Amino acid sequence: MIKGKCLCGETEVEVENINDTVIICHCSMCRKQAGGPLFFSNAIKNKAFTLTKGSNLSVYPSSEAAERAFCKVYGTFIYVLQR
Ligand SMILES: [Zn+2]
Ligand SMILES: [Zn+2]
Repeated sequence: MIKGKCLCGETEVEVENINDTVIICHCSMCRKQAGGPLFFSNAIKNKAFTLTKGSNLSVYPSSEAAERAFCKVYGTFIYVLQR
């Protein structure tokens, strides 16, 4: 179990069974989100992810395929969820 939170502490997550696979994406949306040439994340199954605190969470529907969530106070990236 790994726990994480955003910079202001109002968004918290728990992830079970995190794996060693890092995904690097160069698509235009990921480049804009990262503010650089690439974006990287860790792929987990939906049921392994729990949002335990989310009062400052904002969800942006970036495409028909995915939504991106972040802390609306400091902008800390929380997750990309593929629909
Ligand atoms: Zn925050
Ligand atoms: Zn991408």
